[in-house]
Amino acid sequence: MKYVYSSPSGGKLTKEEFLTYFEKKVRKTIRVNKLVGKKEKILVAVSGGKDSTTTLYLLNKLNHKNKNVSVEGLFIDVGIGDYSKVNKKNIVEFCEKHKLKLHLTSFREEFGYNLCYIRDLVKAKGIKWKSCTVCGILKRNLLNRKAKELKATKLATGHNLDDEAQAIMMNMFKNTMPVMARLGSTSGVSKQKGFVPRIKPLYMSSEEEVKLYSKLMGFPVKYDFCPCRVGAYRKEVADLLNTFEKNHKQTKYSIVNSLLEILPELKKKYKGKVSYCTQCGEPSSGKVCNSCNLFNKIK
Ligand code: AMP
Ligand code: ZN
Repeated sequence: MKYVYSSPSGGKLTKEEFLTYFEKKVRKTIRVNKLVGKKEKILVAVSGGKDSTTTLYLLNKLNHKNKNVSVEGLFIDVGIGDYSKVNKKNIVEFCEKHKLKLHLTSFREEFGYNLCYIRDLVKAKGIKWKSCTVCGILKRNLLNRKAKELKATKLATGHNLDDEAQAIMMNMFKNTMPVMARLGSTSGVSKQKGFVPRIKPLYMSSEEEVKLYSKLMGFPVKYDFCPCRVGAYRKEVADLLNTFEKNHKQTKYSIVNSLLEILPELKKKYKGKVSYCTQCGEPSSGKVCNSCNLFNKIK
């Protein structure tokens, strides 16, 4: 018998057993956290990577019998040379194969420039924002705008257990509790008009599990990192958690479960006032949203 995976409780699983185990866990995450309602149009933000491709595949597979739930993909070409080109080619191919509707957009179409150019403008102005920060701000803005345009009721992302555990620890280390309050399997502090709720179906699935699932399923994805990635701080936290996980099984689950215990209180405390950007009308914590603020600075 060939085993492909040792579960956290020590059991060894064959390929077929692992695929069943993984899908069952995602189904349970969706059910327990009520991520998908009876009638939904779910837009999956797909980067062409393993996590979001798996999210799109499974949301479609688990809901395909329900005529009231539709699942579509949305890819943003941020314009990082060959990296973006290959990711786009892979996700287009994947969606064609699985007969999934895919919407394509790009930073160039929507903001006028690709990420590399925007990053250079930011640098030239002496602004100390890293390209991942810039990319994240613009992606969040565009994903929400497109989700509204396409009348999506939910926006799904590929965030997994490792991403969430890292985000929790980073918020603790930096004492950024208002940001912590936005975590959870459904993002946001409260229901807000103009903000399409975000769901994370891989919330309880580790990076290792998602990678194995994607490889066993033969998904056409690249496993290397974005060449613009400079998140040294996140990497330090990821390394720390991986070392801890090796020595103390279930550490990442415990971190996420600890957050889930206090999350209702955090959300209550940091509910804040709903406001909208005076320039673009998108939901914003200040008068002007981060995306408009960025372009005001570099133009
Ligand atoms: P990241 O912030 O790059 O770690 O990505 C987090 C999530 O955002 C991914 O799991 C995707 O769901 C989504 N995402 C990232 N990049 C893109 C992209 N280029 N187009 C659409 N969605 C994306
Ligand atoms: Zn704005």
